[in-house]
Amino acid sequence: MTELEKARKMLEKLTPLKGDCGKYCGARCCSSLEGEETGMLLFPGEEDLYEDLEGWRILPAGEDLLIICPGTCDRKDRPLACRMFPLLPIRKGEETVARIDERSRTVCPLARQGKKGMDPAFAEAVRQAGEMLWEVPEQRDFLQRLAREQEELKALRSLLGKA
Ligand code: SF4
Ligand code: SF4
Repeated sequence: MTELEKARKMLEKLTPLKGDCGKYCGARCCSSLEGEETGMLLFPGEEDLYEDLEGWRILPAGEDLLIICPGTCDRKDRPLACRMFPLLPIRKGEETVARIDERSRTVCPLARQGKKGMDPAFAEAVRQAGEMLWEVPEQRDFLQRLAREQEELKALRSLLGKA
């Protein structure tokens, strides 16, 4: 099993709340705006797992790949980015921490509440998955790109007075 597959496995059963948080918000993170398609970035190598799956499309997105899902999914098929949402593993010095994903702040009620409102086991699994992926060069590069994007979003929010 690759580190990527292990990370996906670690987050196959754990979710932000012990119950289904989608019940409370109408699964907002899975809904696209009318006329828009939203997707999520794939971790490097994850595209191989979707080759034979019907209803999923993969598009280029700069250095990375974006996957467009069918709108519902089996937990076993869920991309790692969705499994981690609304958290993201961020490297701080010599350690990895699970942080609220800046992209989730306008969508997810749990993100607004903060990490304390989530299942600690979920947050720890996101952290551990990130720590493990950090040891794989291509995954590390991807995590660094995500971290840069987070900083840009934070700066933008601050500029708009929403920090
Ligand atoms: S938007 Fe947040 S609370 Fe709603 S389903 Fe997604 S992760 Fe759960
Ligand atoms: S892949 Fe699944 S969890 Fe992710 S947005 Fe689509 S339906 Fe939601």
